[in-house]
Amino acid sequence: MNVEEGVELARFTTLGTGGPARAFARAESAAEVTGLLQWAAARELPVATIGLGSNLLVADEGVDALVLKLAGGLAAVDSDGELVRAGGGATNAVVLHHARNAGLGGFEFACAIPGTIGGGVWMNGGAYGADFASVLVRALVASADGSGWLTPAELGLSYRHSDLRHGQVVLAAELRLRPRDPDEIKRDVRELNARRKAAQPTNRRTFGSVFKNPEHELTAGRMLEACGLKGHRIGGAQISPKHANFIENAGDARTADALALMSEARRRAFEQYGVELRHEVEFLGDLALEPIR
Ligand SMILES: Cc1cc2nc3c(=O)[nH]c(=O)nc-3n(C[C@H](O)[C@H](O)[C@H](O)COP(=O)(O)OP(=O)(O)OC[C@H]3O[C@@H](n4cnc5c(N)ncnc54)[C@H](O)[C@@H]3O)c2cc1C
Repeated sequence: MNVEEGVELARFTTLGTGGPARAFARAESAAEVTGLLQWAAARELPVATIGLGSNLLVADEGVDALVLKLAGGLAAVDSDGELVRAGGGATNAVVLHHARNAGLGGFEFACAIPGTIGGGVWMNGGAYGADFASVLVRALVASADGSGWLTPAELGLSYRHSDLRHGQVVLAAELRLRPRDPDEIKRDVRELNARRKAAQPTNRRTFGSVFKNPEHELTAGRMLEACGLKGHRIGGAQISPKHANFIENAGDARTADALALMSEARRRAFEQYGVELRHEVEFLGDLALEPIR
């Protein structure tokens, strides 16, 4: 068990911000995760698992927790008939590649979600009308109390939400896909990626959608655009000039800059539309938005 101290988390987030973890470890097997959960419990240290950090805002001051990253056997992919088994640390890209080679479709929606299976289950990630809940059979979840398989209903999956809490580690997931011609999968993925590139700042450092879409005729992006926020900058972070529901690292951003932009965006959306936007991005460390009333 190799636990490191003070590992900077900025390099593990797609935005490229965030301070050090009090403790950091990579786990390659379920047994290693169990050992690390016990190690943290003995020190009363919270545990948080990260994937590719593509939906993460990490406090500049760092995180007072054991931060886990899954690798090796916990990032492997296998399939049996129409069932794909993937480790929690497997990237969506690798799983999609495996599925395509096995002639299995249904996971194409994840082509533009630059995360892992664990992060996808945690967030119930989705795009183009499909999400993890639509293909997930069950997920193997470990905690200090032991591990077990949970169904989508037991995970409480809904729009960009699960009931999972830090201290619970998604070790693996089983996805039920369906036979599909690999060439058709390839064609669809190409089209979806082209659509994505046209609408979103895919070549910038971001963490994907900042806010969940509200129950309103306008999406979060359209609402923030109408509030005149495209290109608005605080410190090194700016609201994407291409899509207002994205925050870009314009060079030397800090998490505090992104957080200040989010507070400003919520304030303006509330003033102009009476809507309280809820953030989709996950916070790690001591982070809070300013109250809007
Ligand atoms: C350019 C871009 C486009 C995006 N487009 C989409 C999109 O279309 N749809 C969409 O839904 N999302 C999108 N996202 C957001 C993000 O990619 C997804 O939320 C993704 O599922 C996060 O996965 P991750 O592995 O990076 O998780 P992280 O960002 O590392 O973590 C997210 C949360 O999951 C938890 N977590 C991660 N792995 C585990 C695990 N193994 N066990 C327990 N908890 C875990 C973390 O603690 C954290 O709370 C986009 C992001 C970017 C940068």
